[in-house]
Amino acid sequence: MIQTRQREVILAVLQEAGRPLTREEILHKGRDRIERLGSATVDRAIREMTAEFYIIGVEFPGQPRRYELPAESEHPHFICRRCNRVFDLPIKMQLPKIDAPSGFKVSGGEIIYSGTCPDCK
Ligand SMILES: [Zn+2]
Repeated sequence: MIQTRQREVILAVLQEAGRPLTREEILHKGRDRIERLGSATVDRAIREMTAEFYIIGVEFPGQPRRYELPAESEHPHFICRRCNRVFDLPIKMQLPKIDAPSGFKVSGGEIIYSGTCPDCK
């Protein structure tokens, strides 16, 4: 178990960003709060916190793995094609139910929109 302070920083960084962040983004923003935050420490914290469901790993096609705080409800994500950042869209949305072909068990899904974000438009 790593120090609580580092975990608090990771949670605060994700909270403040309000969007899924890559490990590099977490590290970079975390260093604004703890100057000597080590990358191995952050990697270990991310691994532990993901295993304990304090944070959720999200992956989008052709994108590095990102992490976000558990959401209260399902929401779509948005990828900006200019700056490559991923955003949570604060919209309530239910994934459509599908009849999976025989042999497939659906345990999750993602709705991803893309375009340009307010900073890039
Ligand atoms: Zn953008």
